[in-house]
Amino acid sequence: MAGGTVTRFAPSPTGPLHLGHAFAALTADRLADAGRFLLRIEDIDRSRCCPEYEALIAEDLHWLGLTWPQPVLRQSDRLPAYRAALDRLAELGLTYPCRCNRADIRAALSAPQEGAPRIGPDGPVYPGTCRHRSMDDADEGDAIRLNAARAVQHLRLGTLGFHDEGLAQDMPLSPAGFLTQIGDVVLARRGMGTSYHLSVVVDDAAQGITLVTRGRDLLDSTHIHILLQQLLDLPTPRYHHHRLIRDDAGKRLAKRDDARALCLYREQSMTPGQIRAMLGLL
Ligand code: GLU
Repeated sequence: MAGGTVTRFAPSPTGPLHLGHAFAALTADRLADAGRFLLRIEDIDRSRCCPEYEALIAEDLHWLGLTWPQPVLRQSDRLPAYRAALDRLAELGLTYPCRCNRADIRAALSAPQEGAPRIGPDGPVYPGTCRHRSMDDADEGDAIRLNAARAVQHLRLGTLGFHDEGLAQDMPLSPAGFLTQIGDVVLARRGMGTSYHLSVVVDDAAQGITLVTRGRDLLDSTHIHILLQQLLDLPTPRYHHHRLIRDDAGKRLAKRDDARALCLYREQSMTPGQIRAMLGLL
């Protein structure tokens, strides 16, 4: 494989791309420099994804002047790879089935002895209600969680910290910090066979990504990804979390902010150069 930095832009086709996506894609392309910029379609949540949006993603990115190698990796084609990773973690005794829904978790956390719930990257840190359960009694209605306490005992390195190149800052986290601040994350969502965290880690390794670029909203998830890389013997790439594009009120743009959809700017005959200028990328 040719040397050089390999980056990726990994949108979910759940709505039109907006200015925040343009910034993420252009940043990934710029930081690939003389290496390779890849596109990956993150469509594991089939109920929310739609092929029309996937086609629009390619159109918008081409309009911005980006190109990428074919074929594009689509996560919905990768379920066997995620299954293999999950099986490996299960063989290590690091997983358990969980049937709690959000209301169950809220109720368990409101017990007086629990104190104020800690909020991790995926919401309240899971109180461990199903931790005693064995994979042998897993059924269709279960999610699969990581037993974080056991997982940290398997760490190859004593730390889950990383250096963020976007913030130019070290982001330390000890194994003990992982347990209190993050905890037993979901590896496979109910009926889905995988989760964002598991798929991203498996795919970044499979695609040979050497520099992960993404928004700072995902900064806290990176410790989870580093733990999974160590458990699965996968390399840890470099990380660059970039600033988020906000609306006039200072709120981060979300998929529903269709007013800032790239296709609308295109219809209004704006040029890619004007988009770059709006994003401060000239
Ligand atoms: N699919 C994620 C998103 O649309 C990005 C995941 C990543 O870059 O790790 O926000």
